[in-house]
Amino acid sequence: MTATAGAGLVVEGLEVSYGDVRALHGVDITVPAGSVTAVLGANGAGKSSLAAAIGGAGPVDRGRIVVDGEDVTRWPAYRRARAGVAYVPEGRGVFPHLTVLDNLRAMLRRAVPAADRADALARAMDTFPVLHERRRQAAGTLSGGEQQMLALARVLAAPPRLLVADEMSLGLAPRMVDVVFDGLRRAEDEGVTILLVEQYVERALDLADEAVLLRHGEVAWAGPVGDARAEVRSSYLGG
Ligand code: ATP
Repeated sequence: MTATAGAGLVVEGLEVSYGDVRALHGVDITVPAGSVTAVLGANGAGKSSLAAAIGGAGPVDRGRIVVDGEDVTRWPAYRRARAGVAYVPEGRGVFPHLTVLDNLRAMLRRAVPAADRADALARAMDTFPVLHERRRQAAGTLSGGEQQMLALARVLAAPPRLLVADEMSLGLAPRMVDVVFDGLRRAEDEGVTILLVEQYVERALDLADEAVLLRHGEVAWAGPVGDARAEVRSSYLGG
């Protein structure tokens, strides 16, 4: 992907509420194409609401979500997926009753033109051989780590333009957390623009170019990781 003006993710004035609960109050975020931004914040700060809104899986009251220059704010999730927005929600987003193979097929169907699907499927299986072994098993019966591999396999098989990853390492054993971060790094190497919500703040900052700190649904701080790592850390851990 070439970095052109307006490329990447731009979120402007995003407001999200659930009934009377206002989760985001006018959030502005820019993630330049091919870069990684870590979204940090305490429980309830609005991280998942932001991720879901970008993925097309959550409500938006006001504001704009622009991906590579295209305003996707009112697009349904499937249309965003086709346009290269991969949203991996907290809780993995696999179809539990479908087999591993059918999960991959379903995910690739949304993201990859028909002619390229067989190749993408083979790549997914190559990346995580355990998925090949388990291909006829219902995804809901995979371990947490294996389910996360399934979610990552789709992303790596057909690199999206934008990956929105919400707590991919939640509840995983340390070895599987490594697998997740290796996968994210590979996506980064492929030039994927990444918005990363992660409980492992240090590891997220290692991967990220920039960080955004949300507090009570607002951006409390934003900037390059290298400039203000310590500030982000102390503010986040202190908050
Ligand atoms: P955590 O780190 O605990 O997952 P978060 O930063 O991802 O938190 P959100 O899940 O976005 O935060 O929640 C932001 C606010 O919106 C919280 O006050 C939460 O209670 C509220 N909220 C989120 N989802 C809903 C919902 N479906 N219905 C009502 N309120 C919600």
